[in-house]
Amino acid sequence: MLGQMMTQPLLISSLIEHADRYHGQTEIISVETDGSVTESTWSQVAVNARKLASALTKLDLEPQARIGTLAWNNRRHLEIYYGTSGAGFVCHTINPRLFPEQLTYIINHAKDRVLFFDATFIPLVAAIKEHLTEVQHFVLMGPRNDDAIAQVPGVQFYDELIETGDEQFQWPSFDENTASSLCYTSGTTGNPKGVLYSHRSTVLHSFGSNTRDVIGYSAVDVVMPVVPMFHVNAWGSPYACAMSGSRMVLPGPDLHGEALVNLIDTYGVTLAMGVPTIWQGLLAHAGKSGSKLTSLERTVIGGAACPPSMIETFRDTYGVDTVHAWGMSEMSPLGTANQPMAKHADLPIEQQHKLRESQGRPCYGVELKIVDDDGNELPRDGETQGDLLVRGYWVLDSYFELQDQNLLQDGWFATGDVATLDADGYMTIRDRSKDIIKSGGEWISSVELENIAVAHPKLATAAVIGVPHPKWDERPLLVAVKAEGQDPSEDELLSYFDGKIAKWQIPDKVVFVDALPLNATGKVLKRNLRADFSDALTG
Ligand code: ADP
Repeated sequence: MLGQMMTQPLLISSLIEHADRYHGQTEIISVETDGSVTESTWSQVAVNARKLASALTKLDLEPQARIGTLAWNNRRHLEIYYGTSGAGFVCHTINPRLFPEQLTYIINHAKDRVLFFDATFIPLVAAIKEHLTEVQHFVLMGPRNDDAIAQVPGVQFYDELIETGDEQFQWPSFDENTASSLCYTSGTTGNPKGVLYSHRSTVLHSFGSNTRDVIGYSAVDVVMPVVPMFHVNAWGSPYACAMSGSRMVLPGPDLHGEALVNLIDTYGVTLAMGVPTIWQGLLAHAGKSGSKLTSLERTVIGGAACPPSMIETFRDTYGVDTVHAWGMSEMSPLGTANQPMAKHADLPIEQQHKLRESQGRPCYGVELKIVDDDGNELPRDGETQGDLLVRGYWVLDSYFELQDQNLLQDGWFATGDVATLDADGYMTIRDRSKDIIKSGGEWISSVELENIAVAHPKLATAAVIGVPHPKWDERPLLVAVKAEGQDPSEDELLSYFDGKIAKWQIPDKVVFVDALPLNATGKVLKRNLRADFSDALTG
């Protein structure tokens, strides 16, 4: 016997319709590519999304045609999210920081038919245009622009294109499992791989992230996603914020500390999300400028391990609660978030703080387990570490158009991370499996060493890598960037580890660099560091 409830498909268009009807006057603040700020509302975004959807359906594209975007976090990008997916097309967000060859590969592999791009990327599009074999329409995200006309022959303009559409456009209904958006992983090894999200997975992910113990956006929040809309859909915030009717501040191209602090203070941002490297810049500027970040209540930090010292600075200096979260492109991205449990309330405060450092507990909708090399499940004792496997409502099943993939192990996806789990489900990421340091048969977590190093007041940032060692196979090397005006010695840095970890885990050596190499999503490229310093202990 079946239940007798309505079966309405879970469609992305329902999110923007909800925001339009119930939060229509709620503001969307957008920093445009030229630095100017525009204020619009959820209703205006909805009108433009419908006009865009209508205009796109007149372009004679095949169903589910991929529509690429090369764009910052801004209002037009938000309208494209809804106008494309809502009409049954696939919104393909592209990371503009990739190399031109990778961009060409991705755009051709996805068979993008339309390419929307911000003015910043006019030269980039001009340079790769002749290699983009599938694109039929190049559309600059803005009004008519002479630069674009000169550099990208045949270019169209977003503001003119949507005027060919009908604002009364009715969103079509279709199977909720239809593809909605596409995002390629950064491809640290080999070619980037596409993760193809569906309407169903996206709506369920929005429900999941909107629960109180995950992120729980609300209608009283002013949300600033610093995490780019070209990377895992800005962690799903454009969808989840429409569901909850939050105000949004879309920060545009300038993600330096000063610009972000100004936006927080000017627009009363209450909740901001991003990777740790972004917050390093923001905290450094707030410290210098004396801003108290008064409006900010919460930060959600993930994408790479958030050092405890950062959580502490937000908490003790600015009264900001940090939710440390973990996820990946293959998981839409949310997997876990660190929020306390009722039983923690009576613990001494230091212990409560300590418990907030890990990557947290799985959201409902995601299951986790750790296994050994033979796939046997390992105990959830908070100590045993193993390969982390996941499954759930918004976890990928296979990559987009990739041959010979045999991705899942008995229905579970191997994340490539090494982690511990405790009995309550709190997870600590020890490392990416390729970054863990294997010293004389023991494993050393590079993340743990980095967390200690970056708390040193004379360092701006640091990374730890394993480098070949004649006796121990690998030993940890600290690659450090000095803080402005500071000159710490090697001894001073190494003795800072004393008493904080076992002696045999302390790095063997320190090398100083001016900056760490970052990948297109702001994560440290340890592969490059390992190549640069491979003979640091043997040479
Ligand atoms: P890529 O960097 O390959 O594009 P993602 O951006 O999807 O992939 O990153 C996913 C990976 O980032 C995870 O598998 C994990 O290694 C790392 N990661 C994400 N969040 C955290 C976190 N809070 N702590 C430690 N590592 C994290």
